[in-house]
Amino acid sequence: MATIINGKEVSATLRERIRTETERLVRETGVRPGLAVILVGEDPASQVYVKNKKKGCDQVGFLSREYLLPENATQEELFSLIDALNADPEIHGILVQLPVPRHIDGAEVIRRIDPKKDVDAFSAENVGKIMIGDFDFVPCTPAGIMELLEAYGIDPAGKRAVVIGRSNIVGKPMAMLLLHKNATVTVCHSRTVGLAEICREADLLVAAVGKPHFVTEDMVKEGAVVIDVGIHRTENGLCGDVDFDRVKEKASFITPVPGGVGPMTITLLLKNTLTAAKNAAEKGKRA
Ligand code: NAP
Repeated sequence: MATIINGKEVSATLRERIRTETERLVRETGVRPGLAVILVGEDPASQVYVKNKKKGCDQVGFLSREYLLPENATQEELFSLIDALNADPEIHGILVQLPVPRHIDGAEVIRRIDPKKDVDAFSAENVGKIMIGDFDFVPCTPAGIMELLEAYGIDPAGKRAVVIGRSNIVGKPMAMLLLHKNATVTVCHSRTVGLAEICREADLLVAAVGKPHFVTEDMVKEGAVVIDVGIHRTENGLCGDVDFDRVKEKASFITPVPGGVGPMTITLLLKNTLTAAKNAAEKGKRA
């Protein structure tokens, strides 16, 4: 039976570290990390995420600002708010809660945010930096997974890693981070032929498919590390992309849903914002 990776515990430890570093940054430089979150429209799931981000900021001592724009706000209105926040010295991280309403171009929104404040690491500049391995910000979910691996002493070096999913926010950056840590990485997607066989070769299997219980026990090698990114609401509560009850009997380590990868995501957003604030403080010293 696998060791269950406790994301809540790792997240709490990391938040405590962020809180201590924030206190030190404020004491030594006068710079308090500031995060601005913009929500356009009233999507209930997005409202919960925004509330949790504010709670996270409060916990670690950040300044946080929320901007709630109406569903019918124009792209120009959103852009002028982003421009103002780009120029605001109190704000180090800007996050526009995605998806935005259809009349607004999500890709343009990402382009509008100053890459130095793009704490989601979605901009082409930050994605390019991840590619070359010289980055400040990493998309929060894959970065959270790397923290979990480290906390449990799981070194990807030399392992065969399989990532199911190639989205820009999870699958692709996940593959790059594992590659930087010297895993041999295969990325699978909806057009992959022989998926189950490929998964069975994995020492480290990351499921970011978006389909409940997609990874079954016959797809998992004995002793593999299994990371479940999926989140699905069912009538029996939340579940992931992995058939947890059966796969846990075969894996050496496994993340549960809830309580695995999920709690790490906002914590890594806070970590990216702290990095942005430290960079701004450093630049202030040099100026
Ligand atoms: P996404 O953009 O929908 O990407 C899903 C990926 O899975 C795509 O690359 C797709 O392939 C692949 N896929 C779909 N069906 C497949 C199949 N039958 N066989 C193999 N690959 C298949 O999703 P995402 O944004 O990466 O998110 C994935 C899951 O993680 C979702 O459940 C989401 O809710 C969850 N999530 C959780 C967190 C967290 O904080 N825990 C954060 C982000 C996302 P193609 O590219 O070929 O279409």
